[in-house]
Amino acid sequence: MQDESAAPSRGFEAWKDAFRRHLAPTSSEPIGLVVERALGVWIHGVDGRRYLDLLSGIGVANLGHTPPEVVDAVARQNVRHHHVMVYGEYVQEAQALYAAELAAITPAGLDSVFFVNSGAEAIEGALKLARKATGRRGFVAFDGAYHGDTLGALSLAGNERSRRPFEPLLGPLRLLPFGDARGLAAIDETVAAVVVEPVQGEGGVRIPPPDFLPALEARCRATGAILVVDEVLTGFGRTGRVFAVERWGVRPDVLVLAKALGGGYPLGAFVASGSLMRVLAEDPPLSHVTTFGGHPVSCAAGRAALGVLLRDRLAERADTVGARFLDSLKETLTGLPGVREVRGIGMLLGIELDTAARTRVFVEQCRDRGLLLGWTLHHDHIVRLAPPLITQEDVFEEATRTMAGVLEASG
Ligand code: PMP
Repeated sequence: MQDESAAPSRGFEAWKDAFRRHLAPTSSEPIGLVVERALGVWIHGVDGRRYLDLLSGIGVANLGHTPPEVVDAVARQNVRHHHVMVYGEYVQEAQALYAAELAAITPAGLDSVFFVNSGAEAIEGALKLARKATGRRGFVAFDGAYHGDTLGALSLAGNERSRRPFEPLLGPLRLLPFGDARGLAAIDETVAAVVVEPVQGEGGVRIPPPDFLPALEARCRATGAILVVDEVLTGFGRTGRVFAVERWGVRPDVLVLAKALGGGYPLGAFVASGSLMRVLAEDPPLSHVTTFGGHPVSCAAGRAALGVLLRDRLAERADTVGARFLDSLKETLTGLPGVREVRGIGMLLGIELDTAARTRVFVEQCRDRGLLLGWTLHHDHIVRLAPPLITQEDVFEEATRTMAGVLEASG
């Protein structure tokens, strides 16, 4: 899609050269889109084109890019103070009030927020908390799980290929089948923490059957294992509720947040009851500390973003508009070449194709036509869509037609 208002930057050949030579690579084929700016649902390239961001920077820009409320809050915080002291020592308005606001909207009893910098780091904190609180060592996670790439978080990965080069990882670990309540009997009194995504993202947009998460909660209560729910991707309206656990009425012992938590700035958190969280402050004190956790600018940005999410009822919008988008995708794409299944919940949607090769071509051709989407980390034949929750319906309709056109042509 051509963007007439974009004024392309100059000198970007040098950026591309520096990117290629000096930025550590994460794959042999980076997308390499040269970003001029990003606003609302659009990312503008220096080539003068605009791209519809159907990934929200992978689940971060739930309000779209650079929303004015967040820009204002950041500007105000920027002239007051930046980092002043390691986490947990000084009273900082943005951090303290954001913690109180999160405590008010997270499931009952979760009223103590430990801010960190990322999702993986929040998982690490949750694992340490569970070991210290229970005195047990074992962990349980699920096949297809993704919880981040630090060694502790990677230890929970439900994908052999991701784990193998980095073994030995943290254990003992048991990987159980995701979505199958019958497997939960394997959780016993040796388990410190069970870590679960309510809907798996990188595992291929997998939505569990209705009995799974309530049965998991019951099993954790019966065995004393700490239930850690990873809402890094599903939180902040993505699945049509502010938090996905609300759909199943499940109360985690620890809720893990990141991505949209910081309104576009780096921020993670694990949230628990005050009594559970106390164990990190005692014997020894400072059992878990971080310098930058809860950075005041990130907290100011996150507070502003949460304010907009609640004011504009974007979780409800994700539910209703997401359901219509899903229906229309199902109707339009089902039966087209290579399409196995279209599924989703709220504004987290998956298109399962037959092969990785077709998926790669589909993603590239969509990008050529101005749509940004991608396959999931653990499954390269499943396309994930996580659009900004503000995306207009006519934009979804046009994107659906574009996707259908690409699939039709793939014969
Ligand atoms: N948990 C889930 C469910 C995620 O999707 C991700 C990131 N994709 C993480 C944890 C890790 O978060 P981060 O990249 O901020 O470390």
